[in-house]
Amino acid sequence: MRITAIGVLLAAALIFYPVVTEASTMRQTYPNPILYLNRGTGVITRSPITAQPAIGATLFGRVIVIDPGHGGSDCGAVGPDGVKEKDITLAISKELKILLEQDGTKVIMTRGADLDVCGPFSPATQELQARVDIANKANADLFVSVHIDSFDSPEARGTTTYYFKKTEQDDQLARCVENGLKAQLHLQDRGDRSSALYVLENTNMPAVLTEVAYLSNPVEEQLCQANSFRKKAAMGIYLGIKNYFAGGMS
Ligand SMILES: [Zn+2]
Repeated sequence: MRITAIGVLLAAALIFYPVVTEASTMRQTYPNPILYLNRGTGVITRSPITAQPAIGATLFGRVIVIDPGHGGSDCGAVGPDGVKEKDITLAISKELKILLEQDGTKVIMTRGADLDVCGPFSPATQELQARVDIANKANADLFVSVHIDSFDSPEARGTTTYYFKKTEQDDQLARCVENGLKAQLHLQDRGDRSSALYVLENTNMPAVLTEVAYLSNPVEEQLCQANSFRKKAAMGIYLGIKNYFAGGMS
C-alpha cells in the first residue's frame, strides 16, 4: 500500500510538473512576447492581439480638422447678453476634440485659443483660406467648422448644418452631423443645407459647417453659456461623425 501511495504521488507530481512549470514560465517571462496584454480589455493572451479597429468602420487613425469659427480680432456674432460666438465655438470644438481623440482620431484644430488663424484683422478670404490650408496640407479625412448662427430677428432659432457637394460624401456627412445635433440638443431642426461657403468649397475633403444654435435668440444665447449644452453639442457632432464613418445615412 505504501509503495502504491508513493507511486500515485510520484505519478501526480510528474503529471502536474509540466503544468506548474509552464505556468511559472508564463509568469516569469511576462511581458516577454510569450504573453500579450490586451490594452482594451486587460485580458492576457498567448498570441498577439492584432485586432486593431478597422480603418473603414471607425474613427481610429482618421485625421479630422476642427475649425472653431472666428477668433482673435473677429468675435463673430454677439448675443443680446454680450456672449461672443468665437468663445462658444472654441469651447464646443475643444470638447469635440476630446471625444474624437478618445477614439484614436488625430485631431488638428485650426486654432486652439482666442486667436486669428491668418492674423489680426486679415481680409475674410485670407483668414478662411488659412483654415482651408491647414486641412488641405494635413490631407485630412474631414473638415468640421463650428459656428453659432445669428439673425436680425430674435425669433430665429435652431440648428443648421451646411455642406457643399464637391465630393460624394459632403451631403451625407452634413446629414449625419445635423441628426447627431438634433438628437442631443432637441432644438429646432433647420436641416442640412447646401451652400457655397468658402471653407466648404475650398477644402479637398468632405466638409461641414454647422451652426449649432442662434446666438441672437436670447434663450439659445443662455443655452450657449452652459457647459452642459456645449458638451451636448460636441457629443452630437461626434456621434454624427461616427455614424458617417460607419456608413450611416442618418
Ligand atoms: Zn460664424
